[in-house]
Amino acid sequence: EAEQEIDFFFPQEQTLAVIKPDAMEGHKEEILGEISKGGFTISHLKETVLTREMAEEFYREHREKPFFSQLVDFMCRGPCLMLVLTKENAVEEWRAMMGPTDPEKARETAPQSLRARFAKDVLENTVHGSSDQQHAAEKIHFIFGDISADSDVLNEADVVSPPL
Ligand code: GDP
Repeated sequence: EAEQEIDFFFPQEQTLAVIKPDAMEGHKEEILGEISKGGFTISHLKETVLTREMAEEFYREHREKPFFSQLVDFMCRGPCLMLVLTKENAVEEWRAMMGPTDPEKARETAPQSLRARFAKDVLENTVHGSSDQQHAAEKIHFIFGDISADSDVLNEADVVSPPL
């Protein structure tokens, strides 16, 4: 009941965030701290090493791009942390926290962003975030399955869910 009232005034939105393999090597805790400071609620999280097949499916929109195989190699190189973030306007707000795809551009236009601070180059760029609500729903389903009936608040069962 109370939850419904909150949703009426501040409609919650979900987005999929990924801490990519480059950032898992040294910036995971700091990025999680930023997510929390940014006011996002983490409803689901899962650390996993993607298989090639999964990485290819995850980025299938880019399969014709010249960098596709590099991108798949990179995403399978080590563990990723997958997160469902909930907040009003979550898709746009998480994209803003990430900054532009290319960290050189990020350093010029969004120096506080995660990519400006932590990314090595346009490929190894620290974080992923859905570009719109449709993609968010699709990719959340791909990674976490059907979570539509779950609470927006993380519970222990989500944390210990088996790897993909
Ligand atoms: P994003 O939504 O900001 O992550 O950017 P895109 O959807 O355009 O690209 C997906 C991912 O592919 C990026 O996050 C990068 O890891 C990688 N990528 C994008 N553009 C390039 C590029 O020009 N060269 C290379 N090597 N990788 C790229």
